[in-house]
Amino acid sequence: MTFTELIQNAALLRAINERGYSTPTPIQMSAIPLILKGGDVVAQAQTGSGKTAAFCLPLLQQWAVERAITPRRVRTLVLVPTRELAAQVGDVMRNLAHHLPKPIKLSVAYGGISINPQMLQLRGGADMVIATPGRLLDLIRQHAVTISHVKTLVFDEADRLFESGFADEIRQILSLVPAQRQTLLFSATFPDQVLELTENGLRNPVRVDVADSATHKPDIHQRAIGVDMQRRTELLIHLIRQHRWNRVLVFTSSRYASELVAMKLRKAHIFAEPFHGELGQGKRTQVLSDFKTNRIQVIVATDLASRGIDIPNLPVVINYDPPRSSDDYTHRIGRTGRAGNAGVAINFVCASNDAHFKFIEQSQQIRLEREHLSGFEPVLTDVSVLPEEKGPGGIKSHRPNKKDRLRMLTLAPAKNRSS
Ligand code: AMP
Repeated sequence: MTFTELIQNAALLRAINERGYSTPTPIQMSAIPLILKGGDVVAQAQTGSGKTAAFCLPLLQQWAVERAITPRRVRTLVLVPTRELAAQVGDVMRNLAHHLPKPIKLSVAYGGISINPQMLQLRGGADMVIATPGRLLDLIRQHAVTISHVKTLVFDEADRLFESGFADEIRQILSLVPAQRQTLLFSATFPDQVLELTENGLRNPVRVDVADSATHKPDIHQRAIGVDMQRRTELLIHLIRQHRWNRVLVFTSSRYASELVAMKLRKAHIFAEPFHGELGQGKRTQVLSDFKTNRIQVIVATDLASRGIDIPNLPVVINYDPPRSSDDYTHRIGRTGRAGNAGVAINFVCASNDAHFKFIEQSQQIRLEREHLSGFEPVLTDVSVLPEEKGPGGIKSHRPNKKDRLRMLTLAPAKNRSS
């Protein structure tokens, strides 16, 4: 199938061509015709498989054939869970809309920065708004925007938006948009309970699922390296140097750990920056942009970076700490192996989180052989010997002192002690 069979608008086809998309991806082939028909769609497809264009293109084509309405009213609303994703989707939409003869007024709104420029931008209305839920509600409260004329509502990373953290905000937004509308849900993961919850409010949604098809799985080589918890940073430094990776995304389980690991990498002369929700928005934007332009070699991030963010040519993702859930695992490793490229995902597995990692493996239906690298063979094999290390899912960064280490050595099985 070619794009000309999916999209009729010449200006959009020109923009597709300029972005270098030669053929539509499976999710684009399935979702674009359904969205153009006007029905509700729940679309699941792997990370990095072109989901953004799969909803941007039909929305823009719909816009191009609609009659102009004065005054301008928000007819399309795209909700996303993070500020970075709002900016990213805004960029894709703007790029694809670039040649449309009837210009679309697009507003991107997210928190962490002053609301005033966003209010100014919304003066005179907007045709489409791409927003995080909290900032959208702030703008509505300030009478900067109304969403009572929305015809199409998109939830990008829908399962995340339907988690409890956003529940209140989403409920409020749903009470403000018309009941008669088209609703589109996109994500790489849809836990059953979220599907039940979301499908309640939809009108005969068509479910598109290209996430399980083996032929379209992202090409990500997954590895698990056994290592003692207190030696993970050393191992990380060793791997970065050995492989001469120029771009590495490392995931930790807390903001504190992301700061600490980044600092230790910098001490080892590796240009690393932390990335988490406590940083100011200016810093967050700067770090991502510096990473994309190779000014930063390593980002040490919390799960804030795990959703939707598209970093071209990212060769490797490292789970320094394991993710909380199997779905988080999918999203984290999905930052590599995007758009048909190959990638590597490396998991550091310690005695205290091995059981948790096995649970993730089970849910993912994979079993990764535990590799032991020379010089980094784990000494500690039994989680019960160091109860202080137990945290949620065995992910706690307790640093053993000398006494702890001696105790580990004494209690570890003989075969490991000699290695
Ligand atoms: P997404 O899943 O939307 O974040 O897209 C992942 C990557 O795939 C982005 O870098 C897109 O620019 C790229 N992409 C999207 N659609 C296509 C296509 N049809 N052909 C090649 N690359 C694409």
